[in-house]
Amino acid sequence: MGSVKIEHLNKQFNGNTALEDVNLEIQEGEFFALLGPSGCGKTTTMRCVAGFETPTSGSIYIGDRNVNQIPANQRNCGMVFQSYALFPHLNVFENVAYSLNIRRFYEGGFGTKLSTLAHLLNRRLGKVDRATEQKVRDALDFVELGHLADRLPGQLSGGQQQRVALARALVMEPAVLLMDEPLSNLDKKLRNVMRVTIRQIQQKVGITTIFVTHDQEEAMSMADRVAVMHGGRLVQVDTPTALYSNPTNKFVADFVGSSNILNGTVKGVNESGETLIEIGENRFLRSTYPTNKKDVEVIIRPESIRLLTSEKAADDENILDGTIELSTYLGPTIRYDVKVGELRFEVDTVFEAGSPILPSGTTVKLQIDPNRVVAL
Ligand code: ATP
Repeated sequence: MGSVKIEHLNKQFNGNTALEDVNLEIQEGEFFALLGPSGCGKTTTMRCVAGFETPTSGSIYIGDRNVNQIPANQRNCGMVFQSYALFPHLNVFENVAYSLNIRRFYEGGFGTKLSTLAHLLNRRLGKVDRATEQKVRDALDFVELGHLADRLPGQLSGGQQQRVALARALVMEPAVLLMDEPLSNLDKKLRNVMRVTIRQIQQKVGITTIFVTHDQEEAMSMADRVAVMHGGRLVQVDTPTALYSNPTNKFVADFVGSSNILNGTVKGVNESGETLIEIGENRFLRSTYPTNKKDVEVIIRPESIRLLTSEKAADDENILDGTIELSTYLGPTIRYDVKVGELRFEVDTVFEAGSPILPSGTTVKLQIDPNRVVAL
């Protein structure tokens, strides 16, 4: 069983709190991302699951087993790191076979320990048995590196090295795969390719995966669910779409994609049940987002705003009058910075070939769907 449960996990280093009351349930086969800025506690959470850190308090279960007292090498977790951590003097095949030999060392009797130790002390791996050979070949085929088995790590690209590291983790048939910023060393293009590769391999194997990243795009595009962390605490755990459209606080809204964040005052609720929010002197927005608060933070994604040229819009459609201050061409989209009185909005529109990019100074209307105005 590869589910993971974390209950009331706390971790302090020399009296400083790194994790505070972290509670998580990760389902078997789930691809789960820990997302947050540097120092928020992602790696520490993962290291507690792996058994490399001892929790100050709290419990960790892998499957039904409480692993608090179980040493790291018996937790059945596969690890992949940012740095690949491959042995430069061993070829691809030997790097993958190495971890199987290490396991044999821990599991074996005295005789096995001696022979494995002899292997490990040797600069090369030497001959491996048939079963090991088959497992290693299967793992390399899985990550589509069978043809490079004889290469040294230094003769591989970064993406290929990371696939070797993945094969080395998978060959152990772990219950849980733990990946700590595995794509950070790759350039942007390769990172995008590897996102897809890792996700496909994870789905094929069906292995429970915990993936640490500070890159929101990476977490959102790969994971079934994402836990956003801040200051050692979990702030929100949700599917990527729910995180994006229904952030529970300003930190998540800001961290997961860009947002217009405004201060607002609730003025009442209309017959349709929409909240009327004043966002500036004599400027109002309607929102379907339920709130009990009077002073709210209004969060609107740049792509939820429709930008209309003035003559097209009617008056009663959640509309604000504005002027374009800056137009930025971003390839598939255009980002408009629009001034609405003393307020400023970022608006993203899809770029259509042949359509003009509106210049600075153009007067426009911003139409904002009440369903997409989040009030927290
Ligand atoms: P990053 O993305 O930069 O790796 P992170 O979210 O993974 O950050 P952690 O590495 O888990 O964060 O660190 C959480 C906090 O615990 C930080 O304040 C860090 O300085 C502290 N910390 C982590 N490991 C140790 C350690 N061994 N000794 C002392 N403090 C530590």
